[in-house]
Order: sequence, then structure tokens, then C-alpha cells
Amino acid sequence: MFNALVVEKDDEGKTSAAVQQISEDQLPEGDVVVAVDYSTVNYKDGLCIGPGGGLVRNYPHVPGIDLAGTVESSSDDRYKAGDKVVLTGWRVGEVHWGGYAQKARVKADWLVPLPDGLDTRQAMAVGTAGFTAMLAVMALEDHGIKDGPVLVTGAAGGVGSVATAILAKLGHEVAAVTGRPETSDYLTGLGATQIVAREELNETTKRPLEAETWGGCVDAVGGDMLARVLGQMKYGASVSAVGLAGGAGLPATVIPFLLRGVNLLGIDSVMQPFENRQRAWQRIASDLPMDKLDAMIEPAVLSDLPKLGKDILKGQVRGRVVVDVN
Ligand code: NDP
Repeated sequence: MFNALVVEKDDEGKTSAAVQQISEDQLPEGDVVVAVDYSTVNYKDGLCIGPGGGLVRNYPHVPGIDLAGTVESSSDDRYKAGDKVVLTGWRVGEVHWGGYAQKARVKADWLVPLPDGLDTRQAMAVGTAGFTAMLAVMALEDHGIKDGPVLVTGAAGGVGSVATAILAKLGHEVAAVTGRPETSDYLTGLGATQIVAREELNETTKRPLEAETWGGCVDAVGGDMLARVLGQMKYGASVSAVGLAGGAGLPATVIPFLLRGVNLLGIDSVMQPFENRQRAWQRIASDLPMDKLDAMIEPAVLSDLPKLGKDILKGQVRGRVVVDVN
């Protein structure tokens, strides 16, 4: 028997999450059993720990969209006992049981060998949020980052914190947008050179184009803020659209695309093919300063998750939570 955070649904459809003992034969089918070291808390985890947000199909459910640990047994030739692995995405923790347990049984196709230079704790400090931040930066690079500051929205959150640290390490000026002025020192510590107050960008404007200001953007917010930012991009610059913390709408015009050749790049972390996953994890190991990553970590254990799930949905988690499941 081992510990897991189990979410149950009652007859009235109300969910509740608590740490329970479960056994290996309760785990879903898969070809690799992983002894989990750490997991983390992403926005989606908040939904899955709570009412499900339409992501969870069956109850009881073990959430946790990310996990890192050591292979215990494998019927797939690519992995053997003792291998260190990381898993993000593939709807693990939503449709399939996830990382909030001391063991997980998963498909070998979903795993990535841990790159040299990262341990399992650091991998979960990165997690889906950081992995997605790296994908967003890689997409900007592929389309060319222009001179001038790169804007990061939702900067004190998980995606934003990692994007800020990576972009600064790569030598870019980073303008960090936050609605929490008290995180300014934290963000400048990660390498931000400018703090932009959320209020400056979350109002709509009738002007489709404003002064050309940003050489690139990693956007975790969407909604009115993304619409506004599109009109402030430099000629030919790109925005990686990652999140919807501020809304799923996009009340924008096509003018920035037509007159300034601005690119809006969609970033998905869930279904990324293996080769790109491996490339992103290797870039994380080389381009994310580990001292900066350490500064983002809020440690937690399984029993903290019901509260943390609520906090992240309210935008109250700073940086990256690392959950020690043992
Ligand atoms: P966090 O909650 O850690 O960060 C989100 C941040 O957005 C908050 O910390 C806050 O930053 C800002 N924010 C929150 N509410 C608002 C608002 N109403 N208006 C403007 N800004 C707001 O979440 P993550 O970083 O883990 O995820 C960010 C987004 O990216 C989420 O929408 C998530 O679903 C999405 N995502 C998408 C992925 C993909 O594959 N495309 C993968 C991972 C995440 P501050 O306090 O600094 O203002």
C-alpha cells in the first residue's frame, strides 16, 4: 500500500480530495511503473483537485499532471529499473491517474529520460509550467526575437517565472507584467529588467496599433491583455500564446498582423511529440539557471494539495510548488 491524493465524487456531484492508501493493482494500465519522487501544482491541477473543470472523466481520481521519479519496473525496452524519468502532459492527471501518489503506472511513450544536469526535484520545479515556458521561448526563437524588451505576462505565476528566468539568462531584457506589486523583488531577482503593472495592459483600447514596444512576448494571460499586447509588438515580432489566466476571449483586430507582420504562435504542451519534448528538456537543463529555479520553489506535501489547488485557481501561488509525495 502507498499514499495517494484521491478525489472522490458524491451522489450530488460534489468532489472532495484527501490522502488515502491505495495498492498497485488499483493503478491504471500501462507499461512502466514509476516510483514517484516529486510532483507539482499547475493551474490544471487546481481544476482536477477541485471540481474537475471538465477535464476528469472518472472518479475516484488521482490528479497530478506532472511527475518525476525512478522506474521501478518496465515491460518496454526503452526503460529499465533505476532510470530517472519525467512526465508532463498526455492528459495524465486528467483522464489517466497522475503524479499525486507514491507510484504511477504509465505508458512508456509518455516518458522522457531526465536530462543530465537536472534531478527529479528540479524537474518538478520546472513541471508543465516551466516546460511550456521553454516551448514558448523556443517558438519565439524560431520566428526571431526582435530588439527591445521581451514581455512576459502573468510573470509571477509558474509559466511567467520560468519564462522570465530563461529569457534573462539568454541575454534578453525582460519586462514582467504582474498584478502583484509585492512580487517585484522576486521578479527582478529572476532577471526582469522592468516591471509593468497589470492595470496598464488589461484595459481594452480602440486603437488597434500603439507604439512599437516589445521584441517578443510570452503570454500566460490571454483575453484583453493579449489583445492589447498585439498592438504594441514591434514590426515582425512574435507572441507565444500559452495561457488564459485572464480569459479565453481575444477581443483584437487583425491590424497588427497585416500592418506589422506580427505573429501569434500557439503553444501546446500536452501533445508535443517526443523529439520536441527531449529538445525542450535539454534546453531547460542548459538555459534555466538552477539558482533562479531554486528561488521559485515553494515546498509542499500531498496533504497540502487541497488548499494549494484552490490557491492556484485564485492566482495566489507564486512561482512553482514542488510536492514531495513521500
Ligand atoms: P499560475 O496561476 O501560476 O500563473 C498565472 C498568473 O497569471 C498569475 O500568477 C497572475 O500573475 C496572472 N493572472 C492571474 N489572473 C489574472 C487576470 N485575471 N488577469 C491578468 N493576469 C492574471 O498558472 P501557470 O503559470 O501554471 O499557467 C498560466 C496559464 O497557462 C494558465 O492559463 C494555464 O492554464 C496555461 N497553461 C497552458 C499550457 C499549454 O500547454 N498551453 C501549459 C501550462 C499552463 P501575476 O500575479 O504576476 O499578475
